[in-house]
Amino acid sequence: MTTAETGQFLTITLDRSKCCGYTLCAAEAPELYSIDDQGFALVAGPVPVELEEQARRGAEACPAGALLVTRPSD
Ligand code: SF4
Repeated sequence: MTTAETGQFLTITLDRSKCCGYTLCAAEAPELYSIDDQGFALVAGPVPVELEEQARRGAEACPAGALLVTRPSD
């Protein structure tokens, strides 16, 4: 059974207390991460299957470790 069939989409969680506004997440994966008008990250909702790799790359790019990418079933 595929991820789409089970409905277990990846979820991105942002720890705003760690976000320092480096914007590397948005540079790496602009379809999933953006920057608000205060310079902090905004994250997309459940990640479409075709963007999972981007979600992980964006989180790994964060030098502050502010992003966590998980699957509810993990
Ligand atoms: S890369 Fe990390 S610290 Fe920078 S804006 Fe994104 S979440 Fe915040």
